[in-house]
Amino acid sequence: MPDSPVITLRSLAEIEQAIKVAVYTTIAGLHATARVTPEPVPFAERQQGRKLVLRPGDRWSKSTFDCAWFHFTGTVPDVAAGKDVVLLIDLNGEGCVVDEAGRPVLGLTSISSGFSRELGEPGKRVVPFRRPASGGETIDLWVEAGANDLFGVRRNNGVLEEAAIAIRNPEFHALQYDFEVLRELMQQLPAESRRATQLRGALKRAGASLRDFTEQEAATARAVLRPELARRGKNKAVTVSAVGHAHMDLAWLWPIRETIRKCGRTFATALAMLERYPDYIFGASQPQQYAWVKQYYPALYERVKERVAEGRWEVQGAMWVESDINLPSGESLVRQILYGKRFFRDEFGKEPVCLWQPDVFGYSGSLPQLLVRSSLRYFMTQKLSWNWVTRHPHHTFWWQGIDGSKVLAHMPPEDTYNSGASPAAVAKAERQFIDKPMSDSCLMLFGIGDGGGGPGEEHLERLAREKNLAGLPPVVQRPAEEFFRHIDEGSERYAGWVGELYLERHQGTYTTQGRVKRYNRKLELALRELEFAAAIAGQFAGAAYPHQELERIWKEALLYQFHDILPGSSITRVYDEAVARYAVLAREVEARTAAADAALCRRIGRSPAARPVVVVNSLSWDRTEWLKAGGRWIKASVPSLGYAVIDAAGEAPVAPPTVSPSLLENDKLRITFDSSGVITSCFDKDAGREALAPGSGGNVLAVYQDDGDAWDIPMDYRDRAPKRVRLQSAEIVQDGPRAVLRHTYRIGHSTVRQEVVLFAGSRRLDFVTSVDWRESGRMLRTSFVPAVMASEASCDIQFGSIRRPTHTNTPADWAKFEVCAHKWIDISDRGYGVALLNDCKYGHRVHGNVLDLNLLRSPGHPDPVADRGEHHFTYSLYPHAGDHVAGGVVRAGYELNVPLRPLAGMPGGGPLAQSASWFRVGAPETVPEIVIETVKEAEDRSGLIVRLYEAAGASTRAELGCGFELAEAAETNLLEEHPRPIELASEGLRLDFRPFEIRTLRLTPRR
Ligand SMILES: [Zn+2]
Repeated sequence: MPDSPVITLRSLAEIEQAIKVAVYTTIAGLHATARVTPEPVPFAERQQGRKLVLRPGDRWSKSTFDCAWFHFTGTVPDVAAGKDVVLLIDLNGEGCVVDEAGRPVLGLTSISSGFSRELGEPGKRVVPFRRPASGGETIDLWVEAGANDLFGVRRNNGVLEEAAIAIRNPEFHALQYDFEVLRELMQQLPAESRRATQLRGALKRAGASLRDFTEQEAATARAVLRPELARRGKNKAVTVSAVGHAHMDLAWLWPIRETIRKCGRTFATALAMLERYPDYIFGASQPQQYAWVKQYYPALYERVKERVAEGRWEVQGAMWVESDINLPSGESLVRQILYGKRFFRDEFGKEPVCLWQPDVFGYSGSLPQLLVRSSLRYFMTQKLSWNWVTRHPHHTFWWQGIDGSKVLAHMPPEDTYNSGASPAAVAKAERQFIDKPMSDSCLMLFGIGDGGGGPGEEHLERLAREKNLAGLPPVVQRPAEEFFRHIDEGSERYAGWVGELYLERHQGTYTTQGRVKRYNRKLELALRELEFAAAIAGQFAGAAYPHQELERIWKEALLYQFHDILPGSSITRVYDEAVARYAVLAREVEARTAAADAALCRRIGRSPAARPVVVVNSLSWDRTEWLKAGGRWIKASVPSLGYAVIDAAGEAPVAPPTVSPSLLENDKLRITFDSSGVITSCFDKDAGREALAPGSGGNVLAVYQDDGDAWDIPMDYRDRAPKRVRLQSAEIVQDGPRAVLRHTYRIGHSTVRQEVVLFAGSRRLDFVTSVDWRESGRMLRTSFVPAVMASEASCDIQFGSIRRPTHTNTPADWAKFEVCAHKWIDISDRGYGVALLNDCKYGHRVHGNVLDLNLLRSPGHPDPVADRGEHHFTYSLYPHAGDHVAGGVVRAGYELNVPLRPLAGMPGGGPLAQSASWFRVGAPETVPEIVIETVKEAEDRSGLIVRLYEAAGASTRAELGCGFELAEAAETNLLEEHPRPIELASEGLRLDFRPFEIRTLRLTPRR
């Protein structure tokens, strides 16, 4: 009979399905009871809760995220004597089988999860029991369960689907994978190729031998397929490097408490699989995950440690969590790596060399330098494959950051971190690997994440058959680090990519869940303030530095920077819990800062002033600003990173700004408003020109239809005209040097209250805003149109800035319809420019000469009430001469975010002067923008750490002066390691900077 790909007796897919059904023969039911509780309870208390006796089909959970302890009992029937007996359990949720002491043994997941079959088979339902059984054994099994799956809560979660005793038929068990692998391989090959026709013939013959589906027939079928499985490939062009993986979202469609249990289940499954499959290599990232397992499942953790030591479990680095990279501050990213790497070193003696970030929504151009200066040479992601507009041109490439630092980056060409490890997956990896002319290896991350338990039996059985199967590229299982070291050989031949790795998707995450973003920004800055205050109090006022407390607070702050928390893409409960914790952390940081301040105040000499107020400046330049102390305005001049005692009783001469419902004016700016509250003119008196384009309006508040979810803003949202907001009232307030135009707007069901504030002597116009936001599917934005022409905008990012196009020449430009910036965004020509500053917003649009800031969204998924409620934020208009460097935009951005700080304490009669500067950056030749970002005590308590960076993008020389005598100075990497001594000079430490270079110094004061 001629071989035909079309006509077959039974379709091969039908045969494969029939084989799968024949693998297990159910021989008896299990008796099932469950104790249901709303929250998890420990094993010792498993008899608590509502008791249910259940049969398959019965519902056990009533509400979202219910928990249960299941008890399964039964007796193995005599018919199973000599057979391989397993238990089949499907809770339609997630579960973890525990041993007699309550320790996790194996994770279970439901078959009906929405996970794609192409990626892997959901449904880990088989619990090995006895091999061989003798019959008559008693079954007594406890399973801890959660009524959710890897996509949170699905409609049928919480129903007991299956609870049975079954015999595993070994020939069918093996045949299912033999058949599946060869059939799928056949589908990958040209239909008329010799290999495909051979495979088709063998599969048909194997299928034909199955008449009654006996084990004997299965053995015959396997014998038919064996020669095809034994054919070794000659294709060595690309080797697929496979590593087991279980991507873990530390919160997303479930709360953090469930993640902790997901970690336990996943790690238990990984350990069980490592035992079964000797060449299996598993990897897991995120020290936070390990820290939870250590705390909640110590016995499991010890077993993980053994596997790590053995080299079969890879700890993948290096951040504390797989953090968002757009939104956290530079110092946050440093701490992510610092605490992450330290944990892996302390716990496992491992030094990861790769940053593992498969799923994060874009990667800042600052990151390569942070990696290189933390001894991380490699970078792994796959997320750019999600781009909506352009295709990233490489899978293996050198990624160069804004300062010129380079890391070797790889994106698994299969475009997933949940590979099914099937022949289709392996073939796809080779097919799609763009850089195969340059490289002979690519990475494949296989396994089901998010509580799917990582790789299951099916992944490992497939891999066992694939290795070097004729028709497929060879597959090897090895740690990712080994893969990177391999592709690093001769890596100079790879192409490069310069600047950020912008994700052309998920731009809504710069704005969604504004409260969390605000808390994160404020906490980052509060920690900066605390570390400076505590370092000074520790070195010069004899107070203890709160090392342990800071580490604890930082780690929790870093947790909430996880790539589904800070970006805003989690469910309501995640935000309710995070916001409550942020409030607690903020109070603690404030109290600890106050304690350090008090220690400093006690050391300051008594002041001759009538009403002395100690004011701290934590920024690295001298500042003079208005501030209110004891109900009076004082003009405080405070030196760089220091303090000054100011007399609050002194009369400060004020030329108060002029304010009327249509005007705010001081000695620098003259701003006029129309009757709808829009700025009609902003005249810069120093420059003698208009800052805004005539007739364009400034601070135009607009409400757009936004039907996107938490992640995405519809790209065409501007096709529909926005609603303008309606000004309800305008009041004026004159308070000394502070003039305020108070506007109240009405939008739909929402109210926006805005204080437009101008201080005497200031060229910054602040919009201090409170919103009671009650909209759905809408987005509130403001825009300004500077009278400036520039083809690029400058955007503040971590430790520097990046330039982005203001036009849409190319698809890649067009895709950047919303961009992330931190404290400011600016458009300038050589002579003049305008910046828009903010104190907690990130989503910006710059098109032509329009600066547009996203203030609030209100998506309905996955948090149906996202962002509804009260919001507080400030943004500022800052016109300036020259470009953003000459115009002092970097400093203005910091000053809005880090105000001068009057302390509660009084000078206490100590030896310190009435004013002091601990650190000051001077420059002999140029005007550098060197910013001291961080002052803290060294992690090893060996002195002070001072981290500075060049913020203008200029190579420059600077001198760091210290307000105390130095015994020693050294430069370290970002992790405070590998100190290299720096020569001490009388005028300070002379430092050369490359553009955007970050330098970390360890300074030891002389005692
Ligand atoms: Zn993720």
